[in-house]
Amino acid sequence: MTYYVRDAGRTLQCSGDRLSHSSSRRTGSTRWVDMDLYRTTAGQYVLAKVAVSLLYHLGSCAIVEEHHLRPVSAATLVFDAVPCERCDPSAVEDNALVYPEVEVYRAQVCPDASCIITALERQDPISKQIYLTRVAQALLEEAALSDPAITANMRTQIIP
Ligand SMILES: [Zn+2]
Repeated sequence: MTYYVRDAGRTLQCSGDRLSHSSSRRTGSTRWVDMDLYRTTAGQYVLAKVAVSLLYHLGSCAIVEEHHLRPVSAATLVFDAVPCERCDPSAVEDNALVYPEVEVYRAQVCPDASCIITALERQDPISKQIYLTRVAQALLEEAALSDPAITANMRTQIIP
């Protein structure tokens, strides 16, 4: 199958299989991350991440500048948009401008399974311990069911 995977300013086209999907979304989440892992016909891996947010802000909120958010008319907000607790834009008129957070897409191509695991690993800034987030762990566990190379790399920890 052919997949189109969005990255920041481009779209990656790949042929192969989607190995797994995972999400950090929980009931009541206002921000979460969705991840998909693909294996191309040539044997490379493509990791796709999208950061989703339902939050929107007033123009005066610090988050607007920090994330370079663009204004839209309040009437065009999605039905499940959630007002920021800091700036509380909930009372604005329909024709007022608000600043919704937007989805952020990132994709990464990896030549092999160990590279995918490294791409998903995080390091605790204090203990320096390497770990996987729950959403990354779930993504790899599902992928391991159909990909022996991922299974092998999850079981083998390489100590530098
Ligand atoms: Zn705000």
